[in-house]
Amino acid sequence: MKQEELRKQLLLDRSSGYDRLAPGELERMETYCDGYKAFLNSARTEREWASQAAALAEAEGFRPFVPGQTLAPGDKVYTVNRGKAVTLAVIGSDPLDHGAVIGAAHIDSPRLDLKPSPVTEQDGLCTLKTHYYGGIRKYQWVSIPLELVGVVVRADGERVNVSIGRDPGDPVLTIPDLLPHLGDKQSKKPLYQGIEGEQLNLLAGSRPYPDDDGSDRVKLAVLALLHEKYGITEADFLSAELSAIPALPVGDVGLDRSMIGGYGQDDRVCAYAALRALLDIGTPRRTCVAMLVDKEEVGSMGVTGMQSQAFDTFMDGLCRAQNVSLRDCFARSFCLSADVTAAYDPNFAEVFERGNASYLNGGVGICKYTGSRGKSGSSDASAELVGCIRRIFERAGVIWQMAELGKVDEGGGGTIALYMANRDIDTLDAGTPVLAMHSPYEVTAKLDCYMTYRCMKAVFEA
Ligand code: MN
Ligand code: MN
Repeated sequence: MKQEELRKQLLLDRSSGYDRLAPGELERMETYCDGYKAFLNSARTEREWASQAAALAEAEGFRPFVPGQTLAPGDKVYTVNRGKAVTLAVIGSDPLDHGAVIGAAHIDSPRLDLKPSPVTEQDGLCTLKTHYYGGIRKYQWVSIPLELVGVVVRADGERVNVSIGRDPGDPVLTIPDLLPHLGDKQSKKPLYQGIEGEQLNLLAGSRPYPDDDGSDRVKLAVLALLHEKYGITEADFLSAELSAIPALPVGDVGLDRSMIGGYGQDDRVCAYAALRALLDIGTPRRTCVAMLVDKEEVGSMGVTGMQSQAFDTFMDGLCRAQNVSLRDCFARSFCLSADVTAAYDPNFAEVFERGNASYLNGGVGICKYTGSRGKSGSSDASAELVGCIRRIFERAGVIWQMAELGKVDEGGGGTIALYMANRDIDTLDAGTPVLAMHSPYEVTAKLDCYMTYRCMKAVFEA
């Protein structure tokens, strides 16, 4: 055997995904990514994502699931959990005691939430105080344009949607950083202390209310503007969920346009892949489910997180329609827990182990395990499970790579995989490699986004 053949036979293929793309895939990749970018641009919070996903599904024949309804193969149903999570299913030809195929991803992203009583005036400036949500590097969130988005439930019970800073012509908010001229002491602090949590205050106004001689005239003027637009008062912030998120449009990155930049790609890049794949399949053999969930960034707790029994309730509803026990269904189900992974960054090479890192354009990353400090907090998928999925990918022509998040003991991270596995569901982590994860402007590669979709579809269609 020639050496060249031997290399091909024995060595792991680490070539760029572009050298392995099948004919026609390049065009399909661009089309897919156009759809992804548009969705990411318009669905920037879990609430927006859930409602827009439901609308998209409705347009493609999905109907709200009503417990007690009958279900036939090919039926498409969905449910929205409290406006913040969405579960969709396409009923398979096999009954549910053969198990379901679940694609799970999360639609919440790190951000700055407003405190319950956020409006403050000091020294002539009105600011909105925040409490950050998820793992952010605080210094990244200053001196960038931010939009304010969310809901306020007024004293009269009315729920008002707030959006300021998204529409062209809207004003934006920002947290001004310190000027370098006076930043000497700040610059000597460890990076994580350069900006403290209590400094994440959004600049909201500077013009005092006219013809008034009381205190807090700037705050009064800002509240008057909010009252005029939304009919809300300062007390209404007590029953509100408002967040500041980057006011940055999604766009192509790189002179070759090979990458996508935007906020919240963790984990909406995987959530969109799961949603789109579910919309694109016919009647599957096993029932296919896309579970797009909230609260992953803060531990998957809460009624809309993956630890909530809301998922079990939905699945139990499907099972009861077929006189199947939920436990029997779960025991034979498979879940692809789709969450982004860290892409190797040559600028920070020291935190990666090059032989086991995932790379941009290497395809969707498969994580046998995640976790930190000795795989702690991980759902370590079995060799048998990885072997099974590997064959599915090879058959379907999915370009994929094995991905480990950084060097051993360098840090680490978790996903919702363990909460699925706790339900007696075989679970494997997979996801798109991301640069600058959790930053206001995350970067993915188009090829990897498309392969995340192809991997999800291959699993649904297996
Ligand atoms: Mn994530
Ligand atoms: Mn995350």
